Amino acid sequence: MSTRSTKKKYMACKTCKRIYFDQPCPDHGDSHMTEDWYGFLIIVDPVNSEIAKKAGITKEGTYAIKVRQ
Ligand SMILES: [Zn+2]
Repeated sequence: MSTRSTKKKYMACKTCKRIYFDQPCPDHGDSHMTEDWYGFLIIVDPVNSEIAKKAGITKEGTYAIKVRQ
């Protein structure tokens, strides 16, 4: 196994917890991205979603459940 992987990765933003595939968070930038996240939620309708309300999510998207800061 090589440690120099060129594989594309799913990264989570530490600030908004959204998950992005091979791109930085457009709101917070590359320095906020981490590979150290666990689990995810897909929010399609934040206005009517109890899960989104509990998590404080207001925008649709894919969110990490836990992000190590
Ligand atoms: Zn962000």
